[in-house]
Amino acid sequence: MIIGIIGSGAMGSGIAQVVATAGHTVRLLDQNAQALERARQAIETSLNKLVEKGKLTTEAAAGTIARVHLTQDMQEFMDCELVLEAIVEDLAVKQHLFRELEMVVPETCILASNTSSLSIASIASACQHPERFIGIHFFNPAPVMQLVEVIPAVQTRAGLAEEVRALVESWGKLPVLAKDTPGFIVNRVARPFYGEAIRLLEEGVADAATIDWAMTELGGFRMGPFQLMDFIGHDVNYRVTESVFTAFFFDPRYKPSFTQKRLFEAGYYGRKSGRGFYSYA
Ligand code: NAD
Repeated sequence: MIIGIIGSGAMGSGIAQVVATAGHTVRLLDQNAQALERARQAIETSLNKLVEKGKLTTEAAAGTIARVHLTQDMQEFMDCELVLEAIVEDLAVKQHLFRELEMVVPETCILASNTSSLSIASIASACQHPERFIGIHFFNPAPVMQLVEVIPAVQTRAGLAEEVRALVESWGKLPVLAKDTPGFIVNRVARPFYGEAIRLLEEGVADAATIDWAMTELGGFRMGPFQLMDFIGHDVNYRVTESVFTAFFFDPRYKPSFTQKRLFEAGYYGRKSGRGFYSYA
């Protein structure tokens, strides 16, 4: 299968690695040449690590790299059977992209978005053929995380969700079907997880390190809420919280916190900027 991926950032590069490893030809597009180069390096580094660990042969790694074709030209998507978008989380920008894309790809091409928080119906509404549109939501880092949410919109044709679920399974992932509601499954459950942890901190019940320690050592979680927010980045995490809160008609259960908003405004994004709830200097 020939799969197009648009956006070669954190998610797009990881998804490209997943589908190329599964044997598909990948056309990886980004508007930014440096982002494409970074993606190529990230995929190579990740595959080399697997080779070092003995989980992949040198030949298989080379074959995977050879299947990823970097491009800045959407015309090269003429032969794609599936295109998955992982660009900036902005509805108008995504809608504009799919309008342009539909002028290039064949009518049979499946269109998908990796959006974390926008409604699939709203992105699909920009398409001439919204019945071929679906959400395929990976988690970061895509090559490592097993779960993938498959989200049909109200416009999605009957049967497509099952086809996509089988395809995702063939990539070695564990797909779960979810309805097109804000945050789908994981990001919705995660909102009160982060929100309540921040409230504990604000109320002075315990400090961040103690809460993280309790959740990991005693609660069995792989990462505590503050470690996880710093890992994801407050730029991403805060925006998703704000978006889920708005999409649920301002339901107070999902209300964002000023503590996180100030970190976001200050540029204290977490690990990626050297400071968040913790300092990484
Ligand atoms: P990112 O900022 O790392 O990468 C986005 C890339 O898209 C950039 O390289 C940028 O140059 C490119 N881009 C932006 N607009 C473009 C356009 N019009 N045409 C072509 N390329 C364009 O972002 P990311 O973290 O990879 O997130 C991408 C999408 O995946 C978002 O919708 C996000 O909500 C979603 N998502 C993110 C995560 C996460 O943890 N980061 C997890 C799941 C889903």
